[in-house]
Amino acid sequence: MTNAAAQRAPSYTKQDEALQSLMHYVARKSPYYRSLFEQKGITPSAIQRVEDLEQLPFTTKTDLQLHNEAFYCIPKNQIIDYCCTSGTLGKPVNFILTDKDLNRLAYNEQQSFAIAGLTHKDTIQICTTIDKRFMAGLAYFLGARKLGAGIIRVGSASPEMQWNTILELRPTALITVPSFILKLIDYAEAQGIDYQNSSIKKAICIGESIRAHDFSPNVLARRITEKWNLQLHSTYASTEMGAAFTECGEGRGGHQQEDLIITELVDKNGQAVPPGTPGELVVTTLGIEGMPLLRFKTGDICTAFTSPCSCGNSSLRLGPVIGRKNQMLKFKGTTVFVPAIYNALNKLPKISAYQVEARTSSAGTDDIIIYLSMQKGNTQSEADVAAFLKANIRVRPKVVFQTSEEMQKRLFPKGNRKPKKFLDGR
Ligand SMILES: [Zn+2]
Repeated sequence: MTNAAAQRAPSYTKQDEALQSLMHYVARKSPYYRSLFEQKGITPSAIQRVEDLEQLPFTTKTDLQLHNEAFYCIPKNQIIDYCCTSGTLGKPVNFILTDKDLNRLAYNEQQSFAIAGLTHKDTIQICTTIDKRFMAGLAYFLGARKLGAGIIRVGSASPEMQWNTILELRPTALITVPSFILKLIDYAEAQGIDYQNSSIKKAICIGESIRAHDFSPNVLARRITEKWNLQLHSTYASTEMGAAFTECGEGRGGHQQEDLIITELVDKNGQAVPPGTPGELVVTTLGIEGMPLLRFKTGDICTAFTSPCSCGNSSLRLGPVIGRKNQMLKFKGTTVFVPAIYNALNKLPKISAYQVEARTSSAGTDDIIIYLSMQKGNTQSEADVAAFLKANIRVRPKVVFQTSEEMQKRLFPKGNRKPKKFLDGR
């Protein structure tokens, strides 16, 4: 064999091999991908390596919404759990899981907890929804069980119920939306609970970012840790990915689990961006039986880091989600991501709730209106808040004060299980 031939001889990575089996699996089992491959003349064996993925078209949220059942790779009698997406951005999509998929989900979350330093000695209080067909809560339960940790399924209950449980059962970690920790602190202070010396040492934070782009703690994280010395770990996942990116103790991005997922970051033309440049996250799921996805465009904009992490885990890491592709607003020539507006609003000392609305102006550009309610004792006017935003995010949106009741109606319109913090009327 010549040197050149030796170099060409296949030496596939584990990801390449998993991708090869995935290609053959979906070609056989997925009505959606089978017909797509036929239409586009794609043969499964043409995709041998992760680098070959760029030959395949993307799968979008709209594809899932329009052809949901065509993505199912198994007959109904093999389905065990019926999850669905939250539907925050349109029609919810069903995600079906087989017995093997549930084992994979458990493994995923066990690994994710281990990355965050949790062990079988921990007792984890789950403060997020674990029913209502959410995949996340189920994953936390299964992962903690596989880890051998104690599990307290309080779910999304009041701070009072969370504290009663913490004081009685002494869990060591919380899984929670980080802004809820502020509510726990408020309640503890009002009730004279010595929260700083409670059994809780760690929080796994979901749904909201806790870091700025340089990985330093953002306003939300600082507001928590200034009062309560908790170790915060961000975890990022979605139903479509079926895999979590969780921070180790270094807090420099969520570690990818290479046996479960392939990630790509692409620009608005679908081309790969260089490492360290923000792009839209595209995922290919590995080892899924019920509803695997190829090159799914998540709509989340983030940055990938490939330099080795000081924790010793050399996997790719994802920085905080900068925003969603459809949360990018063009306001009088300035680009602003909706989460940047949230970050600024979170700095207001007396704010209690807010909603950001985007509309198309008569000039065809984006208009931004911020609705917010303030706590008792607020001395700021709408104009003060607008000036504050201008100083923080370089744009001055319209600000409209609302009563708490009006805000509740805005945030939880009929049937919504998550607060609708962003109303996109464009
Ligand atoms: Zn690390």
